[in-house]
Amino acid sequence: PPLLVVSGLRATVADTPILKGVDLIVRRGEVHAIMGPNGSGKSTLSKVLVGHPSYEVTGGCARYRNDEDLLELEPEERAQQGIFLAFQYPVEIPGVSNNDFLRLAVNKRRGALGLDEYDPLEFLGVLSEKMEMVSMSPDFLGRDVNSGFSGGEKKRNEILQMALLEPELAILDETDSGLDIDALKTVAAGVNACRSEKNAMILITHYQRLLDYVKPDFVHIMYQGRIVRSGGPELALELEAEGYAFLGITKEQQP
Ligand code: ADP
Ligand code: MG
Ligand code: MG
Repeated sequence: PPLLVVSGLRATVADTPILKGVDLIVRRGEVHAIMGPNGSGKSTLSKVLVGHPSYEVTGGCARYRNDEDLLELEPEERAQQGIFLAFQYPVEIPGVSNNDFLRLAVNKRRGALGLDEYDPLEFLGVLSEKMEMVSMSPDFLGRDVNSGFSGGEKKRNEILQMALLEPELAILDETDSGLDIDALKTVAAGVNACRSEKNAMILITHYQRLLDYVKPDFVHIMYQGRIVRSGGPELALELEAEGYAFLGITKEQQP
């Protein structure tokens, strides 16, 4: 079965309907890009899939792996079952070092997989290897989670988390926004390194430029709470050239 089957998904935030019937099928080994103008509901979709408490599901369903009803699971269970969301605005956690935070998160996931937890020393070895992958400097380990990180460091940290947690379904919400070209390439290299036949990724992005470095299998356009068009990588190039005029919106409303 596909890894994720979203059908007719509807959701509200503060009683306002945002998702109005989202359909999406994601299989293992696939990378899906979701694009679309600001306010289309892209972040809402990712938050509903991970179980953010501010969003209420009002219709449709999301099936994960063996037909499990994803929407019935607690957010923590979803994470333990291999769903990962990199947030658009990563949170700062004062007083908790990155090293500790990552080790706790990884050990939870390992517990869910029936694997032994890493002790701090073992974990350090694993971590160093993955940090090299995202060109992260070692001094970052002792710092508090995300505090005082530059925009680029936060994004790299997201990719580092993804590399460590080895999710089955990773959702990256605008991990590429605000990055200079070097940071963008690092993020893309991390994404490509995490890509495998065992997992799938949903990349939410405003810009085609990330897709120059990470080639998606499918591109979807979200608009007014629905996926209104799907295609291959060429769809992103078409958007780059022609914008969202086909949606009947003006240049000013475009991202
Ligand atoms: P996108 O990620 O495509 O830019 P969002 O999912 O962030 O779109 O937002 C979709 C719509 O939902 C927007 O109109 C936004 O204002 C609204 N929205 C999102 N989150 C909230 C919230 N917590 N409270 C009120 N409105 C929200
Ligand atoms: Mg937005
Ligand atoms: Mg968004």
